[in-house]
Order: sequence, then structure tokens, then C-alpha cells
Amino acid sequence: MTDTAIKPATISHWINGVSTPGTSGRSARVYNPATGQVQALVDLASVEEINAAVEQASAAAKTWRLVPLSKRAEIMFRFRALMDARRDDLARILTREHGKVHGDALGEIARGIENVDFACGIPNLLKGGYSEGASTGVDVYSIQQPLGVVAGITPFNFPAMVPLWMIANALACGNAFILKPSEKDPSASLFMADLLKQAGVPDGVFTVIHGDKVAVDAILEHPDIAAVSFVGSTPIARYIYQKGTEHGKRVQALGGAKNHMLVLPDADVNMAADAAVSAAYGSAGERCMSISVVLAVGEVADELVQAIASRLPALKVGPGSDPQNEMGPLISREHRDRVAGYIASAEADGATVVVDGRKQSFEGDGFFLGVSLLDHVKEDMDAYKDEIFGPVLCVVRVPSYEEGLRLINDNEYGNGTAIFTRDGGAARQFQFECQVGMVGVNVPIPVPVAYYSFGGWKASLFGDTHMYGPDGIKFYTRSKVITSRWPDPSSSKIDLGFPQNR
Ligand code: NAD
Repeated sequence: MTDTAIKPATISHWINGVSTPGTSGRSARVYNPATGQVQALVDLASVEEINAAVEQASAAAKTWRLVPLSKRAEIMFRFRALMDARRDDLARILTREHGKVHGDALGEIARGIENVDFACGIPNLLKGGYSEGASTGVDVYSIQQPLGVVAGITPFNFPAMVPLWMIANALACGNAFILKPSEKDPSASLFMADLLKQAGVPDGVFTVIHGDKVAVDAILEHPDIAAVSFVGSTPIARYIYQKGTEHGKRVQALGGAKNHMLVLPDADVNMAADAAVSAAYGSAGERCMSISVVLAVGEVADELVQAIASRLPALKVGPGSDPQNEMGPLISREHRDRVAGYIASAEADGATVVVDGRKQSFEGDGFFLGVSLLDHVKEDMDAYKDEIFGPVLCVVRVPSYEEGLRLINDNEYGNGTAIFTRDGGAARQFQFECQVGMVGVNVPIPVPVAYYSFGGWKASLFGDTHMYGPDGIKFYTRSKVITSRWPDPSSSKIDLGFPQNR
């Protein structure tokens, strides 16, 4: 920043239903990735601020759980209507801080709202079971109760959708929710906090606290936070799971990914190429469900690489606020340079750089990188092994379906995968054999709809419960089984034997 630059805005916490300036004296820079300029400073919470926020949330949780299901559903319906009416405004916030193009931001919001739709059905979702006459005069029934205060820690790449994966179900189930969004693009969470308040969520039930490792550790160690949902990179997910469970919390921690698209020789090459380009370069490859590797089986490889390469010159890369553009910048200068480093290392290791995004020039200081296509990538190259999280697509040529499957199953991650084929039997075999949590059949980004649940396998998820949908309801509630009898007191007697069904 120069001395003449406009003073950046301050982004504060949201505690007890109001914007609350931070007191730690620490802050982080929030950039506009399309210009490279600092546009705000976000407050970073101290341990004391987390403790104070948890105290407010704990008090609010006690009364929120008493609000009838019909009222909680009504609030969710109102929140849904407000979100729907403000899609464009929220999308502009996403573009300004994350960089994604407006249309892509609208897509993220639509997929986020699906989770609110699901939570509107909370009276039905929390129905328990009832067995009349389980024993003579004895009835047994189950209920699901909220956990109390629960927290969510979210990544930069979906500043609206991933928080909504958690918020909608956590609140509808009767919990107070504390969100610690990514400090790189924190404003979407505050926008949603305001809409939740307008929808009727009582003060203290929804909290946004910004921060870094200090805030995260304070959340993980706080005895009054019952559960933590995390989405982010694998090393941090592993850490969150270990530390959170050590402190007695229920934890679901979703990590990184390396998603492969297996293209069989019988696939429609043009359809596969369109899918690969959309899924590799959408949102500049900064999606945990992006396609990062195309496994081209046998003779399809030459034609497929050519078909993908031929589509790339037409892609429009530039500021997300320009409706002409299809792909925006990366989140930061450091990340852009790291992604470019993978192209250089793959080239040095013998891969063919078919299209080199480093050669595309852009005006200004935005964190842009053009799209890249690497062919003849091998298993031992860093570009294959690591999650790149940028607009780089690697093609690995494999001789057979079996070799493609082996690569997928040997990979440390197991988030998403896709098969492209016209052979239903091969697709069915693939869905049976692959060690991956979310599978697409001629669908490159198989993000489950909100009434299923989202989650990978292996190093893409720590914990047992997937996120949102039925697993989300399970995660944010604790079940209780009640065995009840209303006998005539005159029949009462002492019996030291173990209770049996009679
Ligand atoms: P990240 O792991 O760097 O950050 C995620 C969250 O953790 C942020 O809120 C951040 O403030 C916090 N954090 C970062 N470092 C920390 C530390 N040392 N200690 C405690 N907390 C810390 O991830 P990111 O860069 O924001 O997001 C990109 C990553 O998220 C990619 O790996 C991507 O695959 C993954 N992701 C996964 C999914 C999924 O569903 N599996 C979805 C979206 C993103």
C-alpha cells in the first residue's frame, strides 16, 4: 500500500447479534485478488474474545433449544427467502474478496441455499421413533437433542456455501453456532449473520469470530464447545481432528483432494473434454471437487488431449466482476506463484506443457494465472502427487481401466472421482471398486445434493460423519432413548433381577 492509498475498512466480529470490533490489536489483510490491493483489515480474535463469545453463545443456546420446531422451521424459511432475494449482493462480495466470477459465485450461493431448503424440513428430520408396548405396559421412544454450542471453521474457497453446509442444520437442530470463517474472505459470513438476524435468529445463537490459529486453538480447547465441523486442507484437518477429539469434542474434519477423471476409450471425446475443462478450470481450480488429473485410457489419449487443448484459447480469464470473464484470479500472490511452480517442476521432470498459463499476461497487479495443460505426467511428479489447487490439469496416460483404478485407489486422497464411458457395466464396476467418497458417472463434479451428505474417504475426511444432509442432522444432535412405564402404584414391588421383557 502507498501512503496515498485509501485507508482500508475494518472487518469486525459478530457477537450477540451485533458487529463487535476486535480488541486483540491483531488483524490480517484482506485483498481484492483481481487488483492485488488490500481492501480491508480483519480483526483476529484473542483467547479472551473467544471465551467471551462462547459465554454469550452458551446462554443463548439454553433458550434457543426451547423454541418450538415449527418456529425454527419458520425462521429457516424466512432466512431462505432473504438469501434468495440477496443472491446478487452476496455474489458481489464473493467476487470482491475471493475473486471468482459472478456466475460462479451465484452457483456457490445456489448450492448453499439448498442446505437451507433441507433445514426447513427440520420438524420432519427430528422425528424420533416410538414403540408402544415394548414390554408389558412399557413404551420405548427415541429423541434427538441439540448439543449446545457447536463451532465451524471454514476455508477460503467457498465463503458462503461451506458455512451454509453447517449453519442451516446446526441452528435448525437447536444449537448455537460459532463460525470462524477464513480470514482471507471474511465478509460473506457477516452478510449472512445479518440475514439470520433479520430472519429471527435470536442474538447470541449465531456468532462470527474472525481469527487465525490462536482463535482455532481456543475453540478446540474450550470445554463448552461440544462439536467442531472443519473444512480445509488435509494437514489442518488432521490437526483439528486430533486436538478436538483430545478435548472431548465430536469432530468432523474434511480435508484436501486430488480428484481423478477416468476416461475410457469408448467415451464421447467431446463431452469428456468439455467436462474436463469445466471441472479443472472453474473457480481457477480452487475447488475441493475440481478435476486435477485426467486418466486417459489407451487410444483415447491423443484425441482427448487435443480436444482439451483446442478449447483453452477461448477461455476468458480476468476480473470476476466483468460478466465476460469465465475464470478469475487465484486467492493470493503466494498461492499463484506456488501453482506456477508446479508447472515448472513438472516440465523439469519431463512432462509436456501443452498449454502454459504462465505465458498469459494480465494488466495490473491481480493474482492471475492462465490455464495450463500438462501431458505425460507421471506418478512420481510433484504435480501429480500434491493438491495443486489452481488452474492446472494433468493428463496421465494409462494402458487400461485397471491401471487407472489402481492410481485412484493408491492416492492418499479420496474426495471425488468421475468415470466417462458409454459402458454401463464398466461404470457400475467402477462405482463398486473405487476408494472414493463421491463418484460421478459422466458427471465431473459430483457434489451430492443437500438431502444426501458430502464427504470423502481416506485423507479427505477425518471422523465418521459426512457433512450436511442426514449426516449433518446426526452430527448436530445427540440421541436419547426413553423407556417409560405408567403402572398402577399398587402393583409396585422390589425386584433385584436384571429387567427383562415380559
Ligand atoms: P486451510 O486449511 O489453510 O484453512 C482452513 C481454515 O483453517 C481457515 O479458517 C484457517 O483460518 C484455518 N487455519 C489455517 N491454518 C491453521 C493452523 N495452522 N491452525 C489452525 N487453523 C488454521 O485451507 P484453505 O486454504 O482455506 O482452503 C483450501 C483447502 O480446503 C484445500 O485443501 C481444499 O481441498 C480444502 N477444501 C476441502 C473441502 C472438502 O469438502 N473436503 C471443501 C473446500 C475446501
